[in-house]
Amino acid sequence: MSNTATLTDRLRGIYRIPITDGLGATGGGEEPDNPHAFVRHFETPPIQKEAAREIERLRAGIRAYLDGDYEHPRRHRPGKCAHGAYYYEECGSCIDAHFTALLSGNSAQDRNPGS
Ligand SMILES: [Zn+2]
Repeated sequence: MSNTATLTDRLRGIYRIPITDGLGATGGGEEPDNPHAFVRHFETPPIQKEAAREIERLRAGIRAYLDGDYEHPRRHRPGKCAHGAYYYEECGSCIDAHFTALLSGNSAQDRNPGS
């Protein structure tokens, strides 16, 4: 685990403060698996938690694309995708559909705020 909190952690009010005095953890606030940082939790307004979820949702969609985890023609093997591309072909329309759906923001997480 990183010594510093990610942007989404900080949006949720979670800050990790590196211990740099050379003495290490002294108890209270440290992460059990990270003796080199204190963790502080602050109250945050709901909009910040919503922003954190949106960043994570968009990142997950980008990651899904990079991992090939989207409606690629290979999923329709041995047939063709909805746009007529064979499984061994690339299909720009499949890629467009993936990102259009991602930008539409109609994920399950959006319908269940607070998760
Ligand atoms: Zn396609």
